[in-house]
Amino acid sequence: MMLRNWLDSILNLFYPRVCAACGESLLKDEETVCLKCRYTLPRTGYERYPDNPLAQTFYGRANIHAVTACYFFAKSGKVQHLIHQLKYKGNKDAGAFLGKQLGESLKDAPLFQGIDVIIPVPLHPRRERQRGYNQSLIIAQGISGVTGIPVGNQYLFRTKYNETQTRKTAEERYNNVQGIFEVRRQEELKGKHVLLVDDVLTTGATLESCAHQLESVPGITISIAAAACAGN
Ligand SMILES: [Zn+2]
Repeated sequence: MMLRNWLDSILNLFYPRVCAACGESLLKDEETVCLKCRYTLPRTGYERYPDNPLAQTFYGRANIHAVTACYFFAKSGKVQHLIHQLKYKGNKDAGAFLGKQLGESLKDAPLFQGIDVIIPVPLHPRRERQRGYNQSLIIAQGISGVTGIPVGNQYLFRTKYNETQTRKTAEERYNNVQGIFEVRRQEELKGKHVLLVDDVLTTGATLESCAHQLESVPGITISIAAAACAGN
C-alpha cells in the first residue's frame, strides 16, 4: 500500500492528474472530472421536455422522436474544455465521462424509453485514423455502460471526407454534409428505435443528414442525444 502510494506520487509528478473540465489537480479518489465540476457543470435537463429548443431545431427538417443534450457548451468554458480534451487531446476518459452523464440523464427519462440500439455519428475512416478513435463512439459506449443498450457501430458510415464544420455558416454546414452518410444492414434496423449520438449539437446539420439516411428504413424511430449543445 505504501509502495502503491509512493508510485502514485511519482507518476503524478510526470503525469499530473487534472480535472478534464477545470484543469485543477484531482484528489486521490477523483477520476477524470473533479467532484466540484460534476456538481456544477451546466445541465440542460432537456431530456424531460419533448418540445425543448433542440427538438425545435429539427421541426420541418427531419422526423425525430426526441432530442436532448446533456450540457450547455456556451455557459461554461469547462464543458468546452471537456469536449476539446476528447476531440483534440486524445482524452478518451473525458468522452467516457460525458457518455456516462448522458446515459444517466436518459436512463429514466420517459421520452427515451424503448431504444433498441445506440448509433454514433461516424467519422470518415481517414479522420478516424488521424484522431485514433471516433469520439462519438466513446460517448455512445458510455451511454451503453449505464443503460445496457447495445452500441451499433455497423450501420451508419461516412462515405465522403470533408473539411471541418467549425468555421462554416449554417447554410455551408448544411450543404457540406448532404448525402455523405450511408446506411448498411438496413434489414436489422426495421421497426427499431435508434438513438443517434454526437459530441456537440450546434446547427444540427450533421445529425439531420444522418437522420435522412436512416429514415429510409421502414418503421424506424429516430432519437438524438449529444454530450453538449450550444445556446442558453
Ligand atoms: Zn474540475
